[in-house]
Amino acid sequence: MKKKTTIEEDRRARAEKHVLACPNCGSPVLDHMTQCPKCKAKLTPKGYQPMSDEKIKKIRYITYTIGAVISIAIIVLIIVFRK
Ligand SMILES: [Zn+2]
Repeated sequence: MKKKTTIEEDRRARAEKHVLACPNCGSPVLDHMTQCPKCKAKLTPKGYQPMSDEKIKKIRYITYTIGAVISIAIIVLIIVFRK
């Protein structure tokens, strides 16, 4: 039987790739964190920043807008060239 992987397990597996040890207390911290959640020591993120929800929404909105414009343009071209 195939092993069931939950979303939580999948998320954890993906997060583990970015786990580092805090240089101050040795706790597991994610490589994009700027502060240790345990000892509050300052950490240096290695240039990786997770996308904020605001940014994702903005990108999605732009993508949808461009998609809509292209769709309309194609429909208009089809109508024009059919004549
Ligand atoms: Zn720490």
